[in-house]
Amino acid sequence: MKIPFVDLKAQYKTLKPEIDAAIQGVIDQTAFIGGPRIEAFEQAFANAQGVKHCIGVANGTDAIFIALKMMGVGPGDEVITAANSWISSSETISQTGATPVFVDINQYSNLDTAKVEQAINSRTKAIIPVHLYGQPSDADLIADLAAAHNIQVIEDSAQAHLAKLHGKPVGSYGKCATFSFFPGKNLGAYGDAGAIVTNDDEFAMKCKLYARHGALKKHEHVMEGINSRLDGMQAAILSAKLPHLQDWTTARQKIASVYDDKLKNLEWLHLPKRAPNRSHVFHLYVVRTDRRDELQAHLNTHGVSTGIHYPRALPTLPAYDYLNLDPANFERAIKYQDQILSLPIFPEMTSEQIEHVVSSIESFE
Ligand SMILES: *Cc1c(COP(=O)(O)O)cnc(C)c1O
Repeated sequence: MKIPFVDLKAQYKTLKPEIDAAIQGVIDQTAFIGGPRIEAFEQAFANAQGVKHCIGVANGTDAIFIALKMMGVGPGDEVITAANSWISSSETISQTGATPVFVDINQYSNLDTAKVEQAINSRTKAIIPVHLYGQPSDADLIADLAAAHNIQVIEDSAQAHLAKLHGKPVGSYGKCATFSFFPGKNLGAYGDAGAIVTNDDEFAMKCKLYARHGALKKHEHVMEGINSRLDGMQAAILSAKLPHLQDWTTARQKIASVYDDKLKNLEWLHLPKRAPNRSHVFHLYVVRTDRRDELQAHLNTHGVSTGIHYPRALPTLPAYDYLNLDPANFERAIKYQDQILSLPIFPEMTSEQIEHVVSSIESFE
């Protein structure tokens, strides 16, 4: 039996008529750029996340960059983000000319709020908490802290569509939240796509303007911007998929509970910890063990594909050599990078597939 890490074909099979019709509609109308499909998806996604505005952009990385730019972040500023994330969370800070400031993670693999507080200084302009693996970070506490220091918050929600904190969807704690619709994300396009969501009317308008060459009407450029669009094809596909997102999320959560239950007696394996007062949407189910590489090889020989998210904590990457950071400040992120292993999890996973993953782990000596 072969278990892929994610199975995008299985999902396509469940939705083939809707997806094919959506794509054909875009081609029939040559509605490749702009048009009502983009607005329809933006409105539907804003509703799903319980916020006023959604601005579709080209990808989740652009979403963070645009948000930072429109907050006025630039050279001389510092922006705090998590030591364990995908590099988009920090490279976008550098893209604005500001300096990324990494802060270590807590036992839930999210930003450690107490350490965020210590990292704030007069140059700090923004904080980017990442809802890593689909579990909301302490966005409420971080937003309070930020407000006290007149700092902005961007929730990097690329892995956390529909996740909730205190019953409220992620994305409504910060000034804005950014999403990725990379194909393998919980809501995935058939190419690159992303979005910024916010409740702030003026900020929404600014982000939209910047992402569209500084012009909301053709040729009326009130400023210079960039070209970062959600295209018609991706908007149509995302609109066809969005009505299923809640069911897919529930399916992910069920698979996670089965893993929790069946693996809980393995003393050598640390299961993902759930923080209180929030719902985890399990973009990834990440276990930890000191024998990670051996376990990964063992699972591979049993046909089980796994992933590592991420193999190196951001501060230790060659890309950040220039910052001369002290590894002692990122003790947990650096410890976890050699222990973490992401097990297969996708909504279409069958009980037989889950059982095969479980029995393959159980047979590891
Ligand atoms: C996927 C991801 C992004 C970037 O999204 P893209 O659409 O690939 O640009 C940003 N942050 C995190 C945490 C991600 O997982």
